[in-house]
Amino acid sequence: MTKTIAVIGSGMTGLVTALSLSKYEYEVTIFSSNIKGEASKAAAGILFPLYPWKNSENMVQLCLQGKVLFDNYLKNLNKKEQEKISYQKKNLILLDENNEALNFYQKSKINFLSQKIDINNFEPCINYNQNDFIVVKDISCIDTSNLMKYMEVELKKANVQFIKKKINKTSELKKFDHIIVCAGAWSKSITNKNISLYPIKGQIIKVRSESQKVRNIILENGIYIMQRPDNISIIGATVENVGFDLKKTEEAKKLLLDQYERRFDKNYTFLDHLVGFRPTTIDNYPHIIKCNDNPKIIYNFGHNRYGVLTSFASAEIVYNLINEN
Ligand SMILES: Cc1cc2nc3c(=O)[nH]c(=O)nc-3n(C[C@H](O)[C@H](O)[C@H](O)COP(=O)(O)OP(=O)(O)OC[C@H]3O[C@@H](n4cnc5c(N)ncnc54)[C@H](O)[C@@H]3O)c2cc1C
Repeated sequence: MTKTIAVIGSGMTGLVTALSLSKYEYEVTIFSSNIKGEASKAAAGILFPLYPWKNSENMVQLCLQGKVLFDNYLKNLNKKEQEKISYQKKNLILLDENNEALNFYQKSKINFLSQKIDINNFEPCINYNQNDFIVVKDISCIDTSNLMKYMEVELKKANVQFIKKKINKTSELKKFDHIIVCAGAWSKSITNKNISLYPIKGQIIKVRSESQKVRNIILENGIYIMQRPDNISIIGATVENVGFDLKKTEEAKKLLLDQYERRFDKNYTFLDHLVGFRPTTIDNYPHIIKCNDNPKIIYNFGHNRYGVLTSFASAEIVYNLINEN
């Protein structure tokens, strides 16, 4: 008999989990509330860890596995679909933390450059006159919001049902064979109150310039700048441990714009300011496990800064958990 699966949450984790499971003999239903501050809607869409040496070994592995699986998914989209989601390959240019970066990349199999080269070969418009920077090659970037819209259409075509409903307890869904909790930073209110999970607020802004200013992803002082094909630059993001506070602050906007103006110029139009809550755990590794009290319930939350990047790798773990004896 076909198994029925309820997925709670329609951020990147929920959508990709549903997409992966819908390929098998499962009847999948997504339950989701219209919560403000959904992390996925604010996400920049950089499919690579920013400062991997600051993460645990198992998180880095999940990220790298996520990169391979995500790249395979993106490669199989046709040109029109790739354009719709602004899929691009870029280099990540790291202007600080170079000793840590060098140490990490030399030990890894990741393709990178650290020769003393003129940065203007990569970034003709940047105001930066040193030659100590590191280039990590071949990083996929997407417009996460557009990808989510595209996935929703594909999921509906695959007969996945969408139900707008806030779930307060998993017992509301007990008729399903499995319940996958992908409710991001809000997952604790539906599951085990003692589990480690808290929101880390991120503010991010968008500006438009007349022409292409930024070719790669520039990373410095924890802030990245990345320009999409429509000349919209994404500048993010703050890291704030302030609970579920939705306020968009002038300080954050100034911090992000100052970084852009320092490296590029002031000829831009300010477009948007977004807030999202990253689902964070104490050990910085997501909960992708069966619930102790009820093995029908599987957790898939707590991906912190890398929930887009790791979404396909996490969905694969969920599939294996459903199928283990
Ligand atoms: C500013 C910013 C930039 C980021 N940039 C990147 C990036 O470039 N690359 C990257 O990999 N990651 C990035 N991240 C991190 C990434 O966005 C998150 O890790 C990821 O989006 C988490 O996805 P999620 O689906 O688990 O949670 P969310 O996207 O927060 O989704 C949670 C879902 O659960 C639903 N929900 C909540 N409670 C209930 C309930 N009771 N009943 C039903 N539904 C419920 C919500 O409506 C929502 O649909 C960024 C985050 C921020 C804030």
